[in-house]
Amino acid sequence: GGNTSAKGVATDPVTGADVDLMWVKGSGGDLGTLTESGLAVLRLDRLRALADVYPGDEREDEMVAAFDFCAHGKGGAAPSIDTAMHGLLDAAHVDHLHPDSGIALATAADGERLTAECFGDAVVWVPWRRPGFRLGLDIAALKSAHPRAIGCVLGGHGITAWGDTSAECERNSLYIIRAAEKFIAARFDPDEHPFGAPIRGWEALPEDERRARAAELAPVIRGLASTDRPQPGHFTDSATVLDFLSRVEHPRLAELGTSCPDHFLRTKVRPLVLDLPPNAPLDAVITRLCELHTNYRAEYAAYYDRHAEPASPAMRGADPAIVLVPGVGMFSFGKDKQTARVAGEFYVNAINVMRGAETISTYAPIDEREKFRIEYWALEEAKLARQ
Ligand SMILES: [Zn+2]
Repeated sequence: GGNTSAKGVATDPVTGADVDLMWVKGSGGDLGTLTESGLAVLRLDRLRALADVYPGDEREDEMVAAFDFCAHGKGGAAPSIDTAMHGLLDAAHVDHLHPDSGIALATAADGERLTAECFGDAVVWVPWRRPGFRLGLDIAALKSAHPRAIGCVLGGHGITAWGDTSAECERNSLYIIRAAEKFIAARFDPDEHPFGAPIRGWEALPEDERRARAAELAPVIRGLASTDRPQPGHFTDSATVLDFLSRVEHPRLAELGTSCPDHFLRTKVRPLVLDLPPNAPLDAVITRLCELHTNYRAEYAAYYDRHAEPASPAMRGADPAIVLVPGVGMFSFGKDKQTARVAGEFYVNAINVMRGAETISTYAPIDEREKFRIEYWALEEAKLARQ
């Protein structure tokens, strides 16, 4: 996930004069497969002039519509919600990324202090704020106030790095990611495992038994996850998933849910977690999964009702995107095979984030209301429709 941008000068075909432009990854799509058609091209003078008419936090969405009036030529791809962050920052190259180590710092309860401990004044802390124009203004102001900074940690979310050249920006991004990895690794103590002690009898089943159990459960779980609409599923029994599910803290952490907007838009706010040991009889497991699924749907509807406003999009479906089965693995679901696989990959990222945050501090994701506002934000709805 994430996005990247470059600023440069081109000739305005209307006037023949130089014009300052920004090329930024558009909404939707993936950085790994980005081509020119995935870039939005905007005039910097007009984009930056938006700061003078910014009407305040409550009318953030109008700013995304205003980006269309900053387009150069046909403008390329639809600008994303992160366009302001890229455009308002006074740096030729900007990367915005969601690396596990960076989100671990971003979701640590005392992330601000730990960021300072890890990076000194090279990387600045930005408190959680929903992606949008205000976040762009905040980061631009922080960069001006900290001229030696190479980037920032965005509380609850990820990282942003900048540089004068593409190579410098990449170097700064990688520096932040690796320094955060080293910071976490230096504090990891296997005797005080961040996910707690292993639960006796909850270790992974041997591979052949695990796969056999997964094959027995796959149609049942896929049927449950397809209550609202049919969903293809994906299965993984990676060591990361199995280790998480074998330790005492996994129910508490899973309940807290994912934090990075990029993650929970795919994984839903929280997974469904089976609370039976790996050796439980199959019929008991199926009965329990059905009960948990009924509870999950009721809780999801309650979450929607707690936070929905009259203008909110309709509830998208109450089935889980992630189902965790201790000793066996993880089933993930989405509208097609690729989306189902990516949901699972993002939950593995979320496990890594929780392990990192709990290694250095306490995992403290953004609160449920903020998650709802992003999950049911009309603009994100438009982005998901493009993916
Ligand atoms: Zn982001």
